[in-house]
Amino acid sequence: MAQDCIFCGIVEGRVPGAIVWEDDEVIAFRDISPRAPTHVLVIPRRHIASVNDLEAKDAGLVGRLFLAAKVVAREEGIAESGYRLVMNAGPDGGQTVDHIHLHVLGGRSMTWPPG
Ligand code: AMP
Repeated sequence: MAQDCIFCGIVEGRVPGAIVWEDDEVIAFRDISPRAPTHVLVIPRRHIASVNDLEAKDAGLVGRLFLAAKVVAREEGIAESGYRLVMNAGPDGGQTVDHIHLHVLGGRSMTWPPG
């Protein structure tokens, strides 16, 4: 855990979070500044700062993020209408929180390409 990481704070219960799904390795909570009617962040409990920090041993964990996103999409009622999964990396990618998180965005039609 990283003391100064806001998402570690949510994992540990130090920071309030609207948690919608969790298991032993992954939690999902509502984005505090939603960009779509459904905007949920799926994160590993373990602190991993960036995609750049992923290692081969994390492959299963990354898969679990996607499987959790699938469940969240179903529970949020957007599985059939469609949704977007986004993981930003680094400054040009728009990453603002250095704890990897998969955005689950849905409930409206998305545009392409992203800005
Ligand atoms: P990114 O820009 O890809 O790093 O995404 C970070 C996301 O975290 C943004 O969409 C923020 O709105 C969201 N966020 C930041 N702080 C919190 C928080 N305390 N609870 C929930 N979401 C947060």
